[in-house]
Amino acid sequence: MADLIIRNASVLDGTGAAAVEADVAITGDRITAVGSISDSAPTEIDAGGRTLAPGFVDVHTHDDGALLRHPGMEFKLSQGCTSLVIGNCGFSAIPAVPGESDKSGLIGVTPTWTDLDGFRASVTKANPAVNAMALVGHNTTRSLVMGLERRVPSDTELDEMRSYVRAAMDQGACGFSTGLVYEPGRYCETDEIIELAKQSAEAGGIYATHMRNEGDRLLQAVDEAIQVGTAADLPVQISHHKSAGRRNWGKIGLSLAKVDQANAKGADITLDVYPYTAGSGPMAQYFNLANIDPELAEVIRFASCPAFREYEGRMAVDVAADLGMAVTQLIHDVISAPEGDRTLCIQFIIDNADIEENLRHPLMMIGSDGIPDLRGQPHPRLFGTFPKVLGHYVREQGVLDLPEAVRRMTSLSCDRFGFVDRGRIVDGQIADLVLFDPETIADTATYDNPQQEATGIDLVVVNGKVALRDGTHTGVGGGRLLHHLK
Ligand SMILES: [Zn+2]
Repeated sequence: MADLIIRNASVLDGTGAAAVEADVAITGDRITAVGSISDSAPTEIDAGGRTLAPGFVDVHTHDDGALLRHPGMEFKLSQGCTSLVIGNCGFSAIPAVPGESDKSGLIGVTPTWTDLDGFRASVTKANPAVNAMALVGHNTTRSLVMGLERRVPSDTELDEMRSYVRAAMDQGACGFSTGLVYEPGRYCETDEIIELAKQSAEAGGIYATHMRNEGDRLLQAVDEAIQVGTAADLPVQISHHKSAGRRNWGKIGLSLAKVDQANAKGADITLDVYPYTAGSGPMAQYFNLANIDPELAEVIRFASCPAFREYEGRMAVDVAADLGMAVTQLIHDVISAPEGDRTLCIQFIIDNADIEENLRHPLMMIGSDGIPDLRGQPHPRLFGTFPKVLGHYVREQGVLDLPEAVRRMTSLSCDRFGFVDRGRIVDGQIADLVLFDPETIADTATYDNPQQEATGIDLVVVNGKVALRDGTHTGVGGGRLLHHLK
């Protein structure tokens, strides 16, 4: 007998096929029937004709530490996300030295582990609400081996980095990530990336990259990503694809054309995007203290600012005007202050037309890139990404249709990052599910009020258990840090 039956649903199976009216039965953690079901179950939920889809996969997160700090993962579960990819942009919870806290501001917990097996044990103990798959990060690995040195590694150092990447892959990481604008990743040459990506390739993993440049030199950066994929012979994920800075708006078409051309010649490149015109990250990483970029300073908003909490949620230009100083001076002073390196900012650098062009591409997944620091005023993408795509870009703007949007949030992502037996509503798959109303689903998180859960999502099931129902988080947990299987 089934444990749970969801009746009268409009089922989008995750493949991009049109919806079919059906009931779905769940037994244990699996889907055990899809169709007209005459049996009964101890728990039955009437979907009332709303849309039942596979749980969404957030392919670009910085939730490594959040799985431990916020195991309820309300900001993800409330969007219908049942699985995440962690360890992006070259920053990951592993490898680590116990007791040495992360300096990137993106992990946010002090490790008690050294490797992925150890981290997984901590995650299992925390019993998070969602599943995850881990990337091993280049910045984290390089820092551990050679600190913030601005040079190429010695043969011994490269070997040591290789062994860390290899160990993570052996323990079930799904790939290797870089963040080549960040310190110390920006000091590496392409050969170093290729050598480390080969370790991922040999274990059947992927290469995910926050590319070396997302503005003036975007196209050259795409060339480098293609080169790594070809030389190391592995699939490539271009993270948060964008063309940053007003003078670069409109280049997305050229960048996507490069990807299409490479794929036509045998490369294997996919991408992800977040549906907002602002990015966000560690402020100190975006500015050279000796020469603060005035154009970027103009579009900066403070998200988390431990040195000056009163600046959180405000544009730097407004704060500077109140203080009667130049905005470049303000940025300088904030970064130089004690804990200034922990400042997270939001930068308005993206054109909406580029977001729409990204969303039209068939190989484009959705990744929030949310940074889960709930003490400040985080970028609204942390709470709003998936409902914003479905409400604004699908329903209101018609940029892509609903079955296709769901495919890119589910089966495409699961296949790409190795979530086996997930991402489709088919008999035998694991029961990660979301029930929502496509007529009302909407993000409510804004820049001024970012910690708001979406509306229009009725039910989220993770590993067969009801995790969210009618706005209530059940706290059932049971999410798993999964092993990537070759
Ligand atoms: Zn990034």
